[in-house]
Amino acid sequence: MLIKADLHVHTTYSKDSLITPKDLIYYAKKRGLNSCAVTDHNSLDGAYKIAKETDFLIIPGMEVSSADGHIVALNVHELIPRGLSAVETVMRVHEAGGVAIACHPYVFFKGCLRENVNESFDAIEVINARAFPFKKSVKRAETAAECFKLSRVAGTDAHYGPQIGYAYTEIETTEPTVEAIAKAIVAGHCSPHGQPVPTATNIGLTMQRLKRVVKKFSHPDNV
Ligand SMILES: [Zn+2]
Ligand SMILES: [Zn+2]
Repeated sequence: MLIKADLHVHTTYSKDSLITPKDLIYYAKKRGLNSCAVTDHNSLDGAYKIAKETDFLIIPGMEVSSADGHIVALNVHELIPRGLSAVETVMRVHEAGGVAIACHPYVFFKGCLRENVNESFDAIEVINARAFPFKKSVKRAETAAECFKLSRVAGTDAHYGPQIGYAYTEIETTEPTVEAIAKAIVAGHCSPHGQPVPTATNIGLTMQRLKRVVKKFSHPDNV
């Protein structure tokens, strides 16, 4: 069966995201996805909690801040510590039964891996819908995928509900389970799809964040 999943989404369990569990499922369904990963910064708590509370197919994961750049770990059953080298982080992800993805490896303004991408990863995020510069980063990631023989995936890196689903990964699986999806990604039975999140939608995120700051200063007890 075909799974359509945004493999890189942050919820309110990441301090910098506005996406509530309810938003996550609402926007994923609205965009025609039948699955979605939860990849909060250095945290697994939200992912497993959300997965337990819904029938929607959630792929639990986290985004690890390694010393060499960000790494998305899907289907890990224990927290991967931040601050380790990329090589050690990938090793830990594998020991925890997970899939290691080199996310947004060639962009500005984010912790990116660049020359630390290597064949020990399972996959590379070829399309990150919030990448800058978009076309160049996709092209470089495609080249790296070929060079290191990595599976190719896509995700939005959404921090705001309406950003979800602009990029997604199609995964051919035997059954709709997280284990089957993880195996299919490692085996390369997947393909990246999508486009950049429209500027207007990204401005929406900035506006919502500004509102939150204003609220915090005007009603400090409410936050
Ligand atoms: Zn990141
Ligand atoms: Zn991210």
